[in-house]
Amino acid sequence: MNDEPHLSVSQLRTYMQCPLQYFFRYVCGVERPPTPELILGRTIHETLHDNYRQKIESHRDLPLSQITDIFSDHWDREVKEAEFQDDENSGHFKDQGIQLPTAYHQGVSPVVQPIEVEKEFLFDTGVTELPLKGYIDLIDDQHYIIDHKTSKRSFPKDAADRNIQLTAYALAHRKLYGDKERGVRMDIMVKTKQPKIQQLQSTRSQADIDRFLRLAKNVEDDIKAGIFYPNENYMCSPCGYREMCDEW
Ligand code: SF4
Repeated sequence: MNDEPHLSVSQLRTYMQCPLQYFFRYVCGVERPPTPELILGRTIHETLHDNYRQKIESHRDLPLSQITDIFSDHWDREVKEAEFQDDENSGHFKDQGIQLPTAYHQGVSPVVQPIEVEKEFLFDTGVTELPLKGYIDLIDDQHYIIDHKTSKRSFPKDAADRNIQLTAYALAHRKLYGDKERGVRMDIMVKTKQPKIQQLQSTRSQADIDRFLRLAKNVEDDIKAGIFYPNENYMCSPCGYREMCDEW
């Protein structure tokens, strides 16, 4: 994939959440070990995508036993990178985590027919200096854009209406296909005792896209101007840059 300088939604969100965290991660290039939660989300993504990738051609889901094997293989490979707290246990995460793709595979996968999985995009926005780069989780045969999430709790009902990642995906769809998507949807695997799947659907107007582009341009301008400062918030607790932040 092309590694030319670019903007991504992750970069924009990191900057909006905490400009100093952006500075450590993207300007200084300091990477922190992923949390077990992050590894779990990544593992589930890879598991679902392995199924959906083959389904583009086969139009059939893999058997559940194969899904759990795929999850297990991805987890065992990815978990080596993770940093666990003293009270966290890899086996516990894995046992709990496997229930999420299982619930999704049984409840949602059978009614999804993908045409694209992890579809790469990289294009000039016409507004920002840098191109926008990313991957759309899934586009189905009705041209709904579907983003897979994992969470400890349900999302607010309007979460899909306000999500800038989905707006960026809608813009990317229009660039890729020259046509508007049918809609956008978040499929959230909620890690409750009894795992549940929450689906939140929305649409994007041209006004939403224009607002996103204004946002991207403003963030890009601030980054170029070297505006970096700590934004103490509830996300400080899992932030891997705490020590660097205290020394700033
Ligand atoms: S600890 Fe909080 S304020 Fe400091 S860099 Fe991390 S998120 Fe930002």
